[in-house]
Amino acid sequence: MTTEQKLLDAQALRDLAEGRNPTDCPCALGPCAGWESVSADRWPAHTMHPLGSLRATLDAEGAPLGEPTYAEYHPAGTRYESADAPIAPLFFPYNRCDVFACGACDRLLLKYTEFGGYYVDHRVRVLNPERVTDAPLPQDD
Ligand SMILES: [Zn+2]
Repeated sequence: MTTEQKLLDAQALRDLAEGRNPTDCPCALGPCAGWESVSADRWPAHTMHPLGSLRATLDAEGAPLGEPTYAEYHPAGTRYESADAPIAPLFFPYNRCDVFACGACDRLLLKYTEFGGYYVDHRVRVLNPERVTDAPLPQDD
């Protein structure tokens, strides 16, 4: 995979989901309705097609951006791990996700990596286009 990834936004996610026909039969990943920890050996890399990334690395002028926000978006009282939490690409953890299509089940999947002191943890959530929202980041004051 190249380092140059296509930058996706909420509308791009909906467009990618359009016309897909995901099967109920889940692949090795399981349902992943909310964020699930998936060890590297459970990630079926050979069936996964990278489609792009939600992580913006450059601003509009082409200058490098710093670490994306850790703020989460839960207007309806959902939590990080909720299966019905919104998918808000500008908010954590979506703002550091890569997007994949699974060749086995035709689902779209979001994936990012948490780096702890002594571990890396791969988190995966299935992309349900009905949960995608264009919510803007709060303005700095
Ligand atoms: Zn699959």
